[in-house]
Amino acid sequence: MLSIPFDNSYARLPARFFAQQDPVKVRAPSLIAFNAGLARDLGITAPDETELAQVFAGNAVPDGATPIAQAYAGHQFGQFNPQLGDGRAVLLGEVIDQSGLRRDIQLKGSGQTPFSRRGDGRAWLGPVLREYVVSEAMHALGVPTTRALAATRTGQDVFRETALPGAVLTRVAASHIRVGTFQLFSSRQDYEGLQTLFDYTVDRHYPTATSPEDLLRAVGQKQVDLVAQWLSIGFIHGVMNTDNCSLSGETIDYGPCAFLEAYNPDTVFSSIDRRGRYGYAAQADIILWNMAQLATALVPLLPDTDAAIRTFTQIVHAMQQQMRDAWLSAFAAKLGISAPQPEDAQLIGDLLVLMDANQVDFTNGFRGLSDETAHALFKDETGFDTWEKRWKTRIETEENPHALMQMRNPALIPRNHQIEAMIIAAVNGDDAPFHRMNRALSSPYLVSEDFADLRAPAHPDEAVRATFCGT
Ligand code: AMP
Ligand code: MG
Repeated sequence: MLSIPFDNSYARLPARFFAQQDPVKVRAPSLIAFNAGLARDLGITAPDETELAQVFAGNAVPDGATPIAQAYAGHQFGQFNPQLGDGRAVLLGEVIDQSGLRRDIQLKGSGQTPFSRRGDGRAWLGPVLREYVVSEAMHALGVPTTRALAATRTGQDVFRETALPGAVLTRVAASHIRVGTFQLFSSRQDYEGLQTLFDYTVDRHYPTATSPEDLLRAVGQKQVDLVAQWLSIGFIHGVMNTDNCSLSGETIDYGPCAFLEAYNPDTVFSSIDRRGRYGYAAQADIILWNMAQLATALVPLLPDTDAAIRTFTQIVHAMQQQMRDAWLSAFAAKLGISAPQPEDAQLIGDLLVLMDANQVDFTNGFRGLSDETAHALFKDETGFDTWEKRWKTRIETEENPHALMQMRNPALIPRNHQIEAMIIAAVNGDDAPFHRMNRALSSPYLVSEDFADLRAPAHPDEAVRATFCGT
């Protein structure tokens, strides 16, 4: 028997926080992947594949689960939507993991809920496998993220532009509390609910916070650090709506996400992001916009509105400098600089300008600095050599710059064209590329002969220019 040691605190909150909702059964569940290491962390004992498929496709609700769809609101591309909620996901429940942290176990693509609006509540195989691979890669890269516990086929088609194979992802998160969850209660003027959510969030994620100001500062720092890490590995989330912004500071809701290849700060992949609101470099600004929305939602928790607005404005403004500092330390580390000075921003910026002008692959360009292969990637050899001299002088005083660099410059990232090829193979019934990508990306900082092919950027004819939403 599958045993999951559930303890479901969110389901004990007031009824208006969620809707009770069982996953909707599917025709023919089959297991694609089960993350045994993560399962052990969560205290889940794994039975045979058939039972895993039944549970993680939503056909069997395990003992102790209290399946709910969570209510939330959110700004989508700047437009406030007062009612979103889990339209295609259910939270089975929570477990306390080996290190004592409470973790959510959620099925995504598990059928309609009261929040589905016009959606079918389903996911197709492509986005499920993309989220599995990319979220696990992000974890291995050292970036805070939700995890993937399982992926199953449903044996049912979903209809997008064409019929596509359906799938369910089992996602594990520190929680699914979003900026949009605060916005839901605040915009409804449900201040009792807002206070309850505040208390719950503080208790679960920020036990030392004693005020809304503390919470805003703490979340802001986590988000700023998170985005700095995204930028440092060339990650573009693609849909940084406030409902996709987690209070825990984890990367959440992988939709049309993608990684930079040739460096260009204006890169946008998402087909729905026509104005580049969530482009690569824009992420550093938009996270502050999201934090301003959180601040606005928290205002009613304080007795004096004017004073609250003044304080929150200062806190959010201070995040600009925090963002610059987080960016500087993340990128300095990529150059082997352990204690960055303000003037290092120029050295980093000049390298990025060269990478942009020479269309250098972001990942291989940085990784190549340690092993002398970078030079060959720059058409402007003199430009690079001049920069390299400055850099080498700068790191003379560093104790072990190359060790630091090899921990911060991955050899492997999930490249967009490889993900697309992996998805096409899986649609045709071949899951081997999916499993291979997972194996390779579990050690993204190691150089391995076995995965040398995965280090190559896309040929022009393979390049992915647009990515589509995860629906
Ligand atoms: P996302 O873009 O995945 O962050 O989703 C935004 C909102 O749309 C959330 O409330 C989702 O639950 C909902 N949604 C996305 N896809 C579907 C779907 N296929 N069926 C129902 N709701 C969906
Ligand atoms: Mg979302």
